[in-house]
Amino acid sequence: MNEVLQRRLTARREQSRYRSRRVLESAQGARLRVDGREMLQFCSNDYLGLANHPKLVAAMQGASAVMGVGGGASHLVCGHSALHHQLEERLAKITGRERALLFSTGYMANLGTVTALLGKGDHILEDRLNHASLLDAGLLSGARFQRFQHNDMADLERRLQKLPVEGNRLIVVDAVFSMDGDMAPLAELAALAQKYGAWLMADDAHGFGVLGESGAGSAEFFGLNQQQLPVLMGTLGKGLGSFGAFVAGSEELIETLIQFARPYIYTTAMPPAVAAATIAGCDLLADESWRRSHLQDLIGYFRQRAESLNLPLMPSPTAIQPLLIGDEQTAMAISAQLEARGILVSAIRPPTVPVGSSRLRITLSASHSQADVDELLTALSDVLAEVLGATDC
Ligand code: PMP
Repeated sequence: MNEVLQRRLTARREQSRYRSRRVLESAQGARLRVDGREMLQFCSNDYLGLANHPKLVAAMQGASAVMGVGGGASHLVCGHSALHHQLEERLAKITGRERALLFSTGYMANLGTVTALLGKGDHILEDRLNHASLLDAGLLSGARFQRFQHNDMADLERRLQKLPVEGNRLIVVDAVFSMDGDMAPLAELAALAQKYGAWLMADDAHGFGVLGESGAGSAEFFGLNQQQLPVLMGTLGKGLGSFGAFVAGSEELIETLIQFARPYIYTTAMPPAVAAATIAGCDLLADESWRRSHLQDLIGYFRQRAESLNLPLMPSPTAIQPLLIGDEQTAMAISAQLEARGILVSAIRPPTVPVGSSRLRITLSASHSQADVDELLTALSDVLAEVLGATDC
C-alpha cells in the first residue's frame, strides 16, 4: 500500500500542490505564534475577531463548569441540551426564519441538507465555484447535477428552461464565494427560482455575522425573507468566532432535516459549552457592531491602496480579498517570501481553484489595525515586484 500512496504523494509534490500544516502555539488573533515565531496573519476566517474574545471564553468556561465537556450523544438520543435549544431559537430570531437547526460543522450541514431535500429524479443546479461541501452534497444526493457558470444568470435560466417537469429543483450557491470573495446575486437568483418553481439554498458561511445591518448576513444584506430564500445555511466557526453551523427556514424544512439529514442524525452533538460561547457571540453582533464597521473600513482602505500599488485585486467587496497570481509555483513563492518577512497569507492552488488561477487568499478581520494592513501592503508590493518583475505589479 505505502508504495502506491508514495507515488501519489510524489506526484502531488511535483505539481506544487502538496498541502502542509503549521503548528499554532497561540490563540487566534491578528498576530499568531507559529513554530516559535510571531507572525502577522491574513489567512483566518475569524472576520470579527471573536475567536479569542473574553466574553466567548468566559461563556465557554462557565458552561463547561456546569455542563461538562462532551456532547455525549446525538441530538436525537440524549445530546440536545437547553443551550443548543436556546442557540437555535436565537439563530432563528437573528435570521428572521421560523426555525433553525444546529449542525456540528458546515460541511455536515451542507451534506445533510442537500441529501435530505433531494434524491433520484430530482434536479440540483450549483454555481461552478461553490464550496467543495456543496459539490460533494450534490453528487451524494443522487439528483441530476448541473453546474452553471459562475454568477451567470443567463446560463442558469437556460438550464432551468430545459429541465423536465418531473422532480424537485434546487438551486444552490455560496452567498459569498470562499476563494473569490464576491457575492452571489441572491435577489436575481430568488426571482429565477420563483419563476421556474425551484427552491433556493444559500451557504452564508462567509457572510453570517459580517454582512447586513445587524450582522444577520447576506439574506439581510439583500433583504430576502424566508419565502424568497427558503434554505439558509450559516456557519459559526468564522464570523461568530466559535464552531459549528446551522440551517434556518420553515418549520417543515427543519422537521424534514431532523427526520432525514443523516449527518445530523448520526453524529454527536457539539459540546454544549460551544453553544454557550456562540450565544455570547450572537450578543456581540449587536453589542460590538463597531467590529463590522471597522472591518468595512479596512476592506475599503486595503482595496484603495492595493489599487494604487497596481496589485492584482479581484472584484470582491467582502473581507476575502484575493490577489490573482496564476500558476501554482509563483503563488507558492510569493507566500513563502511573505512568510520569511513574518506575514502569513495562504496560496490557494488547484484543485481548490481552477488551473491557472492560483491566488493569494488575503482575509481581513476586525482584529487588524490599519497599521497591520499597511505592513501587509508594503510587503506585498516589495515581494510581488521581486517575484513578478516591477512592471507587472
Ligand atoms: N461552506 C463554505 C462556503 C465554507 O467556506 C466552509 C469552510 N471553509 C464550509 C462551508 C464548511 O464549514 P465548516 O468549516 O463549519 O465545516
